[in-house]
Parts: sequence; structure tokens; C-alpha cells
Amino acid sequence: MYESFNLEKFRWDCLQNKTKLKGEEFFYAVKTTGIFCRIGCPAKIPRRENIIFIASIQQAIKAGYRPCLRCKPDHINFTNNHLNLALEACRILNVSENVLSAKEISDQLSISLFHFHRIFKQEIGLTYKKYALVILENRMRYNLKLGVSITNAIYDTGYNSSNRFYENVDLKLGMKPKEFCNYGINTTIYFLVLKNNFRLFSLALTAKGICHFNFGNSEDELTQDIFNLFKKSKLIHRINNDIKQFENKITEVVAEIVGRKNLPLQVKSILFQKKIFDIAVELFLKQGKLYNCIE
Ligand SMILES: [Zn+2]
Repeated sequence: MYESFNLEKFRWDCLQNKTKLKGEEFFYAVKTTGIFCRIGCPAKIPRRENIIFIASIQQAIKAGYRPCLRCKPDHINFTNNHLNLALEACRILNVSENVLSAKEISDQLSISLFHFHRIFKQEIGLTYKKYALVILENRMRYNLKLGVSITNAIYDTGYNSSNRFYENVDLKLGMKPKEFCNYGINTTIYFLVLKNNFRLFSLALTAKGICHFNFGNSEDELTQDIFNLFKKSKLIHRINNDIKQFENKITEVVAEIVGRKNLPLQVKSILFQKKIFDIAVELFLKQGKLYNCIE
């Protein structure tokens, strides 16, 4: 399941509460005065209809707004601004119906494609392509589980062609889409639920690929979730392999993710998932290309 949230509402709430944002800064521009401000600006909050939210200083200036003399948004340090741009890309991706290409996102941020790739990798710690693929494949698994037809699921997920969906599909679903939609019929699934210092998660695999990943609040809830989704499969609660090695690698990942204090939980969770998948493929699947379908 993927998490989504209402970006505009989030921003308006932040502005009203003058929330102190850590590394997630964005700006608001006031249409009536032509000035743009930081979220914590001491000035009176304008009426909702008179403001627009803006991701970066460059964007605000390009749109013709002048920096406010009280909160001095243009004095923000440049490192933060890079982080803001990268996080804005994550937010745009999160609320878009389709998984946007790097070009589409860089256009929205008013920066060059080259600059975007560089900033994203530097600030998030993963290339945009890999990050977007995690989101795309989460949506795909989620849409297939909703019980819609496979054709509709491909469309709803935002694949621009069914070829892309079927590319490495066994590895992405752990089984054929038809089996996946039919509660994992005729498959054997190994699953585990693991506690760590970041977030409790579940992972389920077949011999072909990863069929499920989720975060949750309790082991029971995550286990029940798997039983519901794959009730026609043969479910085996553990992975028949070197689980100790897996846990050791997860400990390293957790340390790295927890150390990324600038990133919001949602972004950290995507990073975490990607790393868990990489480890699982390396340790348990040892197959060829897993990720191959976003430019
Ligand atoms: Zn201001």
C-alpha cells in the first residue's frame, strides 16, 4: 500500500500554525503584494485565496515575486535549498496520478534535468529513477490487490504501456499477475515480519520475486494482511535461507536511514524499502535485472 497525502492542505496547515519545518521548507507568495515569504514569516498570514505555494527560491523569482524583507527567504542557505528541491520532487511524485519522468519533474521545479538528477541523488541518496520505481511498483501491487482487472491496474498505476508492466513481471510480483490477483493461487510464499529500530515491516517472496512489502504497527496486523492477500497460496513463515545474514544487513540499513535526519519519514521509508528489496534480491533471489522501466 502506498501512502499519499494532500499537499496543498499540508502546506496551508503548516502556514497557519507557522510550523517550523526541518529541511522541508517551501515558500508562499502573495499575489496581491508580489512578495514571497518563508513559512515562519512574522507577517500576518494572508487570505488563502491570495497565496500560492512555491517550492524554491528560483521558482518564486522566475514567477516575478520579490523576497520579503522581514523573513528574507533569499538568505536561506543553498544546501537547504537543494534539499527543498529534492523533497519537493518527492512530494510532486507522491501526489501525481502518474509516476512522472525526471524531465517532467525538473520542468515543474524550473531547473535543468542535469541539475535535478544531481540534486536528487545527492540529497535523497538514491537516483530519481530508482526512487520512482519503488513508488510505481508499490502502486502496481496495490492496484492489483484492489481486485480490478489487470488491464485497469496497469492503466491506473500509470504504466504508459503494458509492455513495461510485463517486463520482469515475475520479479516485481513474485508470480504471474493472474496468480497475484487470485490470492497467490498455486504459489509458495515465504514471508517474514521483522522488528528493527526504524519501522516494523513485512516482506513476502516467492522463488521468482518479491510479492509484498508493507509497514505496520503490529506483527499480527502485518501477518494477517499477508494471509488475506495470499490466502490461496502455500504460506511459509520465514525465508528458507540465511536469515541471520539478512538481519545483519538490515541493521546496517537501519543505522544509515535513521542517520538521515533531514529527510521526512515518508522519504526514509521509500529508501528503506528499496534497500530491503536490494538485499532480498541479492540474498534470496539472485536473478537478473529487477528495475528497468522508468526513464
Ligand atoms: Zn516574510
